[in-house]
Amino acid sequence: MTDDPIDRTGLRPRYWETTPLNRMTRAEWEALCDGCGKCCLNKLEDDETGEVVLTRVACRLFDDTTCRCAQYDIRHQFVPECITLSPKNLDKNLYWMPETCAYKLLHTGKPLYDWHPLISGTPETVHDAGVSVRDATVPEFEVDEDDWEDHLIEEPGT
Ligand code: SF4
Ligand code: SF4
Repeated sequence: MTDDPIDRTGLRPRYWETTPLNRMTRAEWEALCDGCGKCCLNKLEDDETGEVVLTRVACRLFDDTTCRCAQYDIRHQFVPECITLSPKNLDKNLYWMPETCAYKLLHTGKPLYDWHPLISGTPETVHDAGVSVRDATVPEFEVDEDDWEDHLIEEPGT
């Protein structure tokens, strides 16, 4: 896949370096998503330590071939628990967010990587850099939740 489902045209040059997250337009905010797909993987959290580990078991709406949500605009009809990230709820979600996620990077004062589509000009660089989960997941309807721990993975690209 080479088409970018996120419209990154017409944005101010390198706006993410000059504009705080809570001052960005909706289009600028949406364009920060690199399409890695890692936030669509199910995680396991240790009750005692709070440690979060990643599994390759993907949300039922995740399309492993495109590495995108198959029903993004109406996803809450099917997955009401899917979190809509915003500047207001970033803080409380940081603990589970992927280390390379642009929202987390910028929120913690780090720069975007050169493979980010806003810098490279193409979403393919995310896959080429080995950061995404394209072609690497199993759908959650194929794996019983009790067996998720058999599918633990390290975060790709870290
Ligand atoms: S982890 Fe962040 S950058 Fe990757 S798909 Fe999710 S929101 Fe987008
Ligand atoms: S509903 Fe869509 S965006 Fe939300 S976790 Fe599932 S695949 Fe990802």
